[in-house]
Amino acid sequence: MDTSAELAPSSPLISSSLESSLKHYFGHDRFRFDQRRIIEQVLKNQDVLVIMPTGGGKSLCYQLPALLKGGVTVVVSPLIALMQDQVTALQDNGIGATFLNSTLSPNEVRSREEALFSGEIKLLYIAPERLFTQAFIELLSRLGQEIGISTFAIDEAHCVSEWGHDFRPEYRQLFQLKERYPQIPIIALTATATQRVRTDIVQQLRLCDPNVYVSSFNRQNLYYEVKQKSKQAYLQLLKTISEYQGEEKGSGIVYCLSRKHVNEVTLKLQQDGVSALPYHAGLNAQERENNQTQFIRDNVQIIVATIAFGMGINKPDVRFVIHYDLPRNIESYYQEAGRAGRDGEEATCTILFSWSDVHTVKYLIGQKADPNEQRIAQQQLNQIIGYAESSVCRRKIQLSYFGEAFESPCGNCDNCINPTPTEDWTIEAQKFLSCVYRCEQRYGMNHIIDVLRGSRKKRILELSHDQLSTYSIGADRTVDEWRTLCRSLIYQGYLDETTDGYSVLKLNAKSNQVLKKLTSVEIPVSSKIEKSVTSVKKTADAELSEIESLLMSQLRTLRKKLADEQSVPPYIVFSDASLRQMARIKPQKTETFSEISGVGNRKLVQYGEVFTQTIRNFCQENKIEKHLNEPNPSVNPSIVYEPASQTELTTTHLTTYQLYQSGISLSEIALKRDIRLSTVNSHIEKLIQAKYPVDIDKLVSIERQAVIRSAIAEVGPHSLRDIREITGETYDYQEIKLVRAAWESQQN
Ligand code: ADP
Ligand code: ZN
Repeated sequence: MDTSAELAPSSPLISSSLESSLKHYFGHDRFRFDQRRIIEQVLKNQDVLVIMPTGGGKSLCYQLPALLKGGVTVVVSPLIALMQDQVTALQDNGIGATFLNSTLSPNEVRSREEALFSGEIKLLYIAPERLFTQAFIELLSRLGQEIGISTFAIDEAHCVSEWGHDFRPEYRQLFQLKERYPQIPIIALTATATQRVRTDIVQQLRLCDPNVYVSSFNRQNLYYEVKQKSKQAYLQLLKTISEYQGEEKGSGIVYCLSRKHVNEVTLKLQQDGVSALPYHAGLNAQERENNQTQFIRDNVQIIVATIAFGMGINKPDVRFVIHYDLPRNIESYYQEAGRAGRDGEEATCTILFSWSDVHTVKYLIGQKADPNEQRIAQQQLNQIIGYAESSVCRRKIQLSYFGEAFESPCGNCDNCINPTPTEDWTIEAQKFLSCVYRCEQRYGMNHIIDVLRGSRKKRILELSHDQLSTYSIGADRTVDEWRTLCRSLIYQGYLDETTDGYSVLKLNAKSNQVLKKLTSVEIPVSSKIEKSVTSVKKTADAELSEIESLLMSQLRTLRKKLADEQSVPPYIVFSDASLRQMARIKPQKTETFSEISGVGNRKLVQYGEVFTQTIRNFCQENKIEKHLNEPNPSVNPSIVYEPASQTELTTTHLTTYQLYQSGISLSEIALKRDIRLSTVNSHIEKLIQAKYPVDIDKLVSIERQAVIRSAIAEVGPHSLRDIREITGETYDYQEIKLVRAAWESQQN
């Protein structure tokens, strides 16, 4: 059924609130980050620069205004694949969108132009090189007169900057937009994290007094880890892939440095029965496109790639990114790892680190002809080594590199989950910083360490640095210890390092605090690399019960079938998050189905019936009663009360029980089983309800049990919130649930 008529620009919905338009067109319940404020600015015809990490939801910032404003929004987008993907996703939401690029035949171009002038199209995607061709200039001017141009949206705007990681010369022409169409507002969007590129975008695009929105670069859903590459690296890779793929066979990217390495690894994986394809610039365009499409459509699960792969990939449900070789620098690592989990669901980012890889990269750097390039590459390599070796929160390091302060622990990286003990090194920090000061803030780490340790190197003597008061005051510490301290000072913001390739150490306001003894400095005491890091990766599906996982896999199959019928990627039909919500809530009617996040009007009409039918059948086959539909299951699933009579135990509960019986703690069970502590807790709750012998006194102290029990006696067992209101906030829901289960099992 075609619903485009109800979505025409004259729809009365335009005047209703932004939230209802969001639900109507895109199926989302609320705006993320700054989306709402940005959209308001675009609606007011202001120039805007949007800086949001990958997966933040940039597209919505121009797509929703495009639907609410009169006329057409012209979107400049660098890659054909990216364009196609966005347009397909919009069309699947029933939104008039199209693109013009070099792949189209003259006939196709003509029919798309007709659609434009008939007013059916709200978003027109175009490649930058086409923008200023004579034909397009004429088309735009006619479009402006007959239909109107509402906004120019410049996607991947960092491509205008030579300082960015993906400069595209054709983007340099974009300054002409403001000159030719000064009255049309521009919204520029990028995930670039560096200030230099941001400034460049504003200048290059001639943005007029733009409002700049910078979101945090913290990607909370990504788990970061560094593992030491073992001698049998390939086997380690194979094992890591199979572990992270899980039973659901999630998608992943494996990055290698060279084409040769990509080919080798792909071949081995294929021989080992892993569904993998290669991607690098040495393949012809046809092969590249084919491999990419196979990946996006979930026909193949793993892409082994050089860094050529990535920017055009909008696939939101990549569950893991493994760097089998060293990343080039922190920024590219952030961007490459960031291709995981764009959908906001949990995903894992792993570096397999080895010193022999470092030597290879060093050798390659030595081959570079330009000494300036060599210097910068060497510095970037040092930063990556620093990152890999560090015991500091991985997030903190990445974000500090982008100038964003972050309070660790993040709870979602190897170093935070498995922390290295820290020691007070304030005195050493003072020695180090005062040595930087004595050396007039003109040298890098190694020089400072030489001075501190009293080196007799020629350079030190020539500079008379053996005469400094800090000379030789740090001979009691090893070079490695001083290095760890120095890096730690940088991540913690107590010291700055220039990024011009010379890595000169500079003091800042926080350094003075240390020097004036106003603050103490803690640093991790041992190097992570020597330890093997236990993986604590979590998969989102682990949170589903066994029966829900079963339904989830049927829903995935249905999604794949529907996607294949339309030749679109499965995520265009529904995201993993939407499917998971369906598996939990099990909506059997279209009214309840429409409450699922990601179900907008068009999708309700198009898919509501088939999905609810599948869910109905599933519930019948598995004898599941009509589900008590919670209005919003994601808000706080823990406060729904299930009386013991409905408790079904499955193998997952029993596995937890076996481990419990072996005498280990609940957190150890969580670690062992790779599931959340709260999940273990809920298993124990069910076991208690089912009258398994669980010794509650070992889990919750007798005093605390007494308080909880008396609260239950007062307000009854039904509302955890009410119980907690009486116990007070020092009691958490987990312990209340355990005591309530024990209380309840004694009642009947
Ligand atoms: P970016 O371009 O910033 O990487 P996208 O625009 O591709 O991000 O959005 C990433 C994902 O987030 C998409 O799957 C999109 O549907 C989803 N998304 C965007 N905005 C919202 C929102 N307000 N609520 C829920 N999901 C959203
Ligand atoms: Zn952390």
